[in-house]
Formats: sequence, structure tokens, C-alpha cells
Amino acid sequence: MPVSRMVDTTGPRVMLAQLRRVMAQRLSTQDRLDQIVDLIARNMAAEVCSAYLINSKTELELFATKGLNPDAVHKTRLQVGEGLVGTVAANEQVLNLSDAPTHPNFAYRPETGEDLYTSFLGVPIQRGGRVLGVLVVQNQTHRHYAEDDEEALHTVAMVLAEMIVSREIIGRDDNAGISNGNGGFDPGVPVHCEGVAFADGLAIGTVVLHQLRIKAAQWIAEDIDAEIVRLDTGIEELKDSIDRILQSMDVDLVGESKDVLETYRMFAHDEGWLDRMRDAIASGLTAEAAVEKVQMDMRQRLGRVPDPYLRERLNDLDDLANRLLRHLIGDVEMTSLPDNAIVIARDMGPAELLDYDRSKLAGVVLEEGSATSHATIVANALEIPLVGRVKGVVDQVEPGDRFVVDGESGIVHIRPSADVEKAYSNRISLRAEQQAQFSALKDEPAITLDGKNITLNINAGLLIDLPHLEETGASGIGLFRTELQFMVRSTLPRLKEQTDFYRRVLDSVEDHPVVFRTVDLGSDKVLPYLDSEPEENPALGWRSLRLALDRPGLLRYQIRALLAAASGRELRIMFPLVAEVAEYEEARALVNVEVERMERRGGKKPSNILVGTMLEVPSLAWQLDALLPRVDFVSVGSNDLVQFFFACDRSNPRLTDRYDALSPAILALLRHVAERAEHHNVPLSLCGEMAGKPIEAMALLGLGYRAISMSPASVGPVKRMVRHLPLEPLKECMKSLTGSGDHSVRRALEQFAMEHNVPI
Ligand code: PEP
Ligand code: MG
Repeated sequence: MPVSRMVDTTGPRVMLAQLRRVMAQRLSTQDRLDQIVDLIARNMAAEVCSAYLINSKTELELFATKGLNPDAVHKTRLQVGEGLVGTVAANEQVLNLSDAPTHPNFAYRPETGEDLYTSFLGVPIQRGGRVLGVLVVQNQTHRHYAEDDEEALHTVAMVLAEMIVSREIIGRDDNAGISNGNGGFDPGVPVHCEGVAFADGLAIGTVVLHQLRIKAAQWIAEDIDAEIVRLDTGIEELKDSIDRILQSMDVDLVGESKDVLETYRMFAHDEGWLDRMRDAIASGLTAEAAVEKVQMDMRQRLGRVPDPYLRERLNDLDDLANRLLRHLIGDVEMTSLPDNAIVIARDMGPAELLDYDRSKLAGVVLEEGSATSHATIVANALEIPLVGRVKGVVDQVEPGDRFVVDGESGIVHIRPSADVEKAYSNRISLRAEQQAQFSALKDEPAITLDGKNITLNINAGLLIDLPHLEETGASGIGLFRTELQFMVRSTLPRLKEQTDFYRRVLDSVEDHPVVFRTVDLGSDKVLPYLDSEPEENPALGWRSLRLALDRPGLLRYQIRALLAAASGRELRIMFPLVAEVAEYEEARALVNVEVERMERRGGKKPSNILVGTMLEVPSLAWQLDALLPRVDFVSVGSNDLVQFFFACDRSNPRLTDRYDALSPAILALLRHVAERAEHHNVPLSLCGEMAGKPIEAMALLGLGYRAISMSPASVGPVKRMVRHLPLEPLKECMKSLTGSGDHSVRRALEQFAMEHNVPI
């Protein structure tokens, strides 16, 4: 197979072949590094080649050099960011200078004898986004290093990085100071790291690396032609497997990942991607190393791009590259998934998470991720803990390591000690016991001690959420976040797809009511395929219903799909982020337009259409007498309501404890809403996070709320509270609390609960 474009691959190929020979010899670490810099210098016609590696003090230490003063080895040290070498490490980027001394960061180190050299080419030695050192070549002349030189040095640096991490260069007994850039990581030692808890739960299990890791020995090709054939075969298998999955897609969950796979198919046929991998093989790498290199280059180029669309594409490509590696390595079926697998990844898309056998998956840990990322949404729906933002975790684990994920606190334990594992296994048993008690309540009514019926609903948004309705014994779905369906896809769902999806939801819930909230996009709910301009205050910006009313096509399509799906059945539609009655009216008019359209076309309408609004902008609370006669129901979105009420970003972790949802001010507002709704005889619910916490839920009942909607895991604890609650005494108690000037009435409510034996 010919190499696709004119790239001079002879240099790196010869260099890698020599590198392989050096690696095959039994040498001390220093001799090995000396030979490596020597062979690089010779092959690149450079007078100097030096390897600086990060030592245990996180300094860049000159470990080996060909050309500089040998006495400077292990003596010259630079901080990351200091001098040209430090700049390469800090920026994680190549520095190619024909006149290095004129660069503002140039720092002369007399002991090295560097003053003779004018040109400088430095590349980071990097692995998994972590800088392990810098590789430099220098010449006396004003040499303009060509792109091919950069590429060659880069390729060798990548192989070196693998060798360092797998300790084929720096052995455990040599150079005790070296940290491998992992902050002293030593396999076998227990470590715990802090991340952010994105999906609740606890798990103990065995590490599975999501992104396959190629061993150092698998990097350098023996036979280039054979590697090209392997790559091409791998790609053909990959394409076939994607086609096969797409053709056989009838399973429930796959509906949510189908679109992502369509995108993969597109990428898998992209000649540019394939050519870059073939070029990498031609430069001396194996097929799997070529996949890894092209992906690393891509991450390097796109990784810092803030554009969410490009970042999503990068994730798609990462995923595709990983699938290709599985074909090359022969682990396509992920057969080796152990019981209680803890999957560790840099980042992960929703489809990838759904690919894992759910009966074996116990937890997920990511280096990236966010509260609203798609993987988080899916993990919550699957009820497995997910901890994100754990820095460098991928490089600190080996497949098969024991691992604890604490999705309550956001802490993870790598290779936990026996004590830690025991403590967690006790906590897991305790949770399971409680869960069993809650499940036993599933068919019991949610009724207070004084006989008041309370409606407990669940919040949902994906097909995988639907079984929770039956499992929890909830009355219905009080909030169906339709935007989640838009978010887990990579293109806008078409009308038919939306209709099919809503129909499946309605089919699945049978007679239970479902409140479909129309798309609530913008702010933290970003669609990679929808253009959006950066805003100074996105939470207050062009989002949600504002966006929908300005682009009514999207909303009308959604309403059309909902009407068609509900044909002959009851349909409940709710609008998000309504700030004034006029906005509600405008949105409702669109429902009327679509109903008339349906009538004109002779479509079978829903048996009953109820239209309501969320109350999550404080301004709406002061228009209730105008609003309530126009709506069929109202649901308070306390997450946004509290955020706007206190002018306090709901997703800023520093502000989490600043204000309390049990502050007298919020409770007074919520009481006002409950009183007006009762006066107008309009059904009222609350569907923010408050509803799912027993003490907050208790306060809501004390204020007059009789329906609340929460995440499925909360139904058990809240129902237990309801069944022990004397409502009348609570109402009395709360009368005195809402007028107080305290920061919070939490203490007083805890006191009430204790006195009346209410489990909260
Ligand atoms: C809310 O704001 O309380 C709410 C339920 O909506 P979301 O969390 O989806 O913004
Ligand atoms: Mg909201």
C-alpha cells in the first residue's frame, strides 16, 4: 500500500529501528539514555540532543546529552516555565527557533556550554496529557528545522514517553528521584484522589481502562508493510462492525446511541484520518501506535479549543480511535469485563458508556466530565456512581487494580488498603439494606399520619429512566426533561425520531401521567450541533423558552411530535423558564397553532391536552393572579428559582453552602405560590432537587405542596418521611418559621422531625 502523501518518513523510520535495537540491549539507565540522545543527534544531523526529564521535585533535569557539557548532566535543572526547555514543558508545545538566544525566554546556563548553539528545536515528552520531560536538538548554525524534523522528534518523544512510564528507561531501582511525572506514583501503593461526585453511589471493584493502553514494546514496527495491512484490515473490520450495529439496532437503549454511531461511520470513512495513520506507520510505528499518535496529535491541536462542537468531535474521534485499537488488539467484544468493573477514562460519551455490560459495570471515573455531561446523565439513569475531574487518574492505575469509587463525597481510592476496602464494603451493605427497606415501601401509599395523600413523581429524560417508574412505585413522571434526548445525540433529532421517542415514553408509562417539559437548552445545557454565541451571563442569557420563542421552528416541531405521539391519550406540556405571562401566552399559542394544523390534516388528537408552566424565575411569582387562570398546572423549578432568587450560581461549588433552600425568604416565596395556587384551584408541584431531600420535602408539605417530583433514588426516603409525618402540627410549626430573619430554619425543622419521630 503506497504512503498517501509526500512525507519523508525515512528519518524517523531509521531512528525508531535504532531505538528498538537500543531497547533490546541490557544497559543501565544512563547508558540507554546516552545512546538514545546520541542516535537522535546523528539521525537528525544535530550537534546537540538532550533529554530533560521531570524529577521528583517536578524540575526539568538534564538526564542525558550528546553535545552539551557532560558534567552538566543531573546538575542542570530548570523549573517548568523557565528558559526555552521550561517553556516547551509549560506550553506543551513544540518550540522551533533558528535564533534561540533572541527569544525572550532564553536562559543561558554556563555549565552546559550552550552558548555555541543558535538553533533550537524542543518537543514535549508527553503521555496522556502529562508532561514527562522535553527532548531538544540544537545546532550552531541558524538552522530552520523543517516540519519533518519536528515530526520525527515528536514521534521519538512519544515512544520515549511510553518507555519512561513503563519503566523501560527509568527502572524502579535507578535514579530513585524520578517521579515519572505522576507525582511519585509507584504501582502497588494505595492512593486516594479527590474529584467531584457527579452520580451518587458507592462501588468497589476492578479497574478497566476505557482507552486501551499500548505497551511500550508494541510501539516500533518490525515490518512496515505488514503494519499497513494490519491497519487496513482493522479499519475494514471497524467499518463492518459499525454497520452491523447500526443494522441490528432495535434494542431500547441503542436508540440513544444510534446517532453517535452514524457520526462514527462518517469518521471511519474519512480519508484524511486514515492517511495520517498510514503516514505514522511509514515513519516506523506499529498500526496501534499510529492510531495512538494521530489521536494524540489531534488532542494536542483540538484539546484546548473552547468550541463545544469541536470538543465533542474530538471525543467522537477518541472513541473511534479506541474502537479501532480494540480491533487491532483483538478485544472487540470487551469480553474481559470483570464483575464489578470500574471503568476509568479521560472522558466518555453516552454511547460508549451504554456499550458496557450493565450487569458488570459498577462505577465510572473520569479525568474530565461535568454535572451536566452526557456520561453523567447516563450514569445517573443507570444508578452507578460517577466521579469526575480526577486529575491524572488514567496514568495512575493499571487494569486489574482494586478501586473504590465514592460517589457521595467525590473521593476515589486506588488500590485501597484492606481497612479502607472493609469500611466501604460495610457502607455498601448498609446502603443495600436501606434500599431494600425502601423497595418494600414501593406499593405502600404515600400518605401522612393524618391521612393526607401526597403525590410522589419522578424526574426522567431518557428511555433508561423509564423502568424507575415501576421500580419506585411513583405516581408518574412530574418532569420529563426532553432536552436530554437532544443532548445525548450528535445531530438534531428529526420529527419522526422525536415522535417515536415520545410515543415510546407514553407506551411505557401506560396510565401514569407524564409532564413533558419542552426543550430547556442553553446555559449549561449545550448542544454541540447548535450554534451559540458566547454570552457573559449564560444562565441569564439566550436560553430555554427565550431561545425557543425566537426560533419557534424547533418548539413547533417538538409540539407537533408530542401531539402525534399522544394521539388518543392525555398529553401534558410544560414550558421552562417562563418569566412573564406574555411569554407563556406566546408559547401556548404555538400549541394552539399545532393543534389546529393537526385538526386540518385530520390527525387523531390527544384525548386531553394540559398545558402548564414551570415557575423558576422569581418575576413570575408576582404575576400569579394573572397567570394561574390561564394555565392547567404549575411546577416550581427550585434549582433555578433559588439561583435567581439569591443571585447565586447553582453550579458554582464555592457557593453550594452560601444560602440554604430552607431559608425563611425562600420558604415565604414558596408559601405565597402555594397559597395563590390553592386560591385559583390550580394543581401545583415542585420538581427541583429540594423535592428529593426528606427534610426539604417535609418543609414543602408544611407549606401546602401536595405533589413533588424527584430523582428516582429519592422516592423511597421521601415516602418513608411522608408515612411518618403528622402534617397538621408541621403546618402550625412552619407558620412561625417563615417570618423569621434567620439564615435557615433547618435546625428548627430537624428538631420538629426528632420530636415527632419523622425519619429525615
Ligand atoms: C429546576 O430548575 O428546578 C428544574 C427542575 O429544571 P432544571 O434542573 O432542568 O433546570
Ligand atoms: Mg430549571
